[in-house]
Parts: sequence; C-alpha cells; structure tokens
Amino acid sequence: MKSRAVFFDRDGIINIDKGYVSDSDEFEFVDGIQELIRHVNVKKSKCIVVTNQSGIARGMYGVEQFNVLTQWMVDTLFADDAVIDDVYYCPHHPTAGESHNTRQCICRKPQPGMLLFASVEHDINLSQSIMIGDSKRDIHAAVSANLKQAIWVTKTPSTSDLTHLEAVKETYQANTHITVVPDVLGILPILQID
Ligand SMILES: [Mg+2]
Ligand SMILES: [Zn+2]
Repeated sequence: MKSRAVFFDRDGIINIDKGYVSDSDEFEFVDGIQELIRHVNVKKSKCIVVTNQSGIARGMYGVEQFNVLTQWMVDTLFADDAVIDDVYYCPHHPTAGESHNTRQCICRKPQPGMLLFASVEHDINLSQSIMIGDSKRDIHAAVSANLKQAIWVTKTPSTSDLTHLEAVKETYQANTHITVVPDVLGILPILQID
C-alpha cells in the first residue's frame, strides 16, 4: 500500500524564520511543532521536510553546513519523540549568486519538484497527502502536485493571494483543500489526516 505524507516547510513552520538560518544557535523551534509531528507519526503518515535553501546559491552557507544543521534538527526532534522521515532541499536560485546552483530548476517551490521526488522515493500517494507552509509558494507547490490539503500558516492572507491560489487550482484542475490558520498551534484541529 502506498504511504501518505505530511510535507513540512522548514523556516516559519519548524523553526522561527529569522532569514537564512544556518546554525543551531539561531534555530528556534516553533511552539507546538513537536506535538504536531508526533501526531502525524501516530497516524502512520510520513513526515517530510521540503525546504527552499537559496542561501546555498547565494553563497551564504554551504551544503555541508546545511546538512550539519539538518542532522541537528532531526536529532533534536527525535529526542522529543518527533520523527522526521526525510528532508528535501533546493539549493538553487534562478538569478542570485554565481555558483552552479544559480540556475532554473524544478525543485524550488512554488514548483512541485521536491514533492514529486519524495513521492517516488517513498512511494507516497500525493492525493492523500498534506502540505504545511507559511508562504504562498508552499501552497502553490501543494496545489500543483494536487495534494489533498494545503495548510497555509499566516496571520495575513491577502485576498489577492487567495484569488491567485484559486486560479492555480483551476489551472491544475486540482482538488487541494486550502486552509488558512494563524499559527502552528492551529493546525492539529483542522488536519485532514484520516
Ligand atoms: Mg517558510
Ligand atoms: Zn532547485
């Protein structure tokens, strides 16, 4: 049987988004994230992080440093019984920086590349899966991959952004249910995981 997954954006969902966080000293977990991950673990759905890391393309930190922080994040959550199954990252940016990571790619959200890679590697049924993100890009990626639900954590969803996302839904003929909540603590009651 195929798996289901909950895809988590990193900055703004797992940790407070302070901009290009690259060190555990700056990495501050968001209230309620451990409980949310534990809940997803109990529901036997995979927990997969999908994160844009253009700081790598911009030359602000390297892949090795990103990997060290990722291992620390996964270990720290694990110590709290919150299990992350995998982490996907996009090191690219279409224009910023001057390394081989400065290029168009298919993984940088709003594109669904990371969701599609994960669905192949973990045998995930995307139409039974959920994305949680704090940016319009996360929700756009979720809709393009036709996930079941996209949870947008934002205190200020603009009407034009919501209209845009509805148009994206139309374009992809997606059935994704878009839900807006003000913070991570608001996710558990509306999670369509069953
Ligand atoms: Mg984010
Ligand atoms: Zn990429």
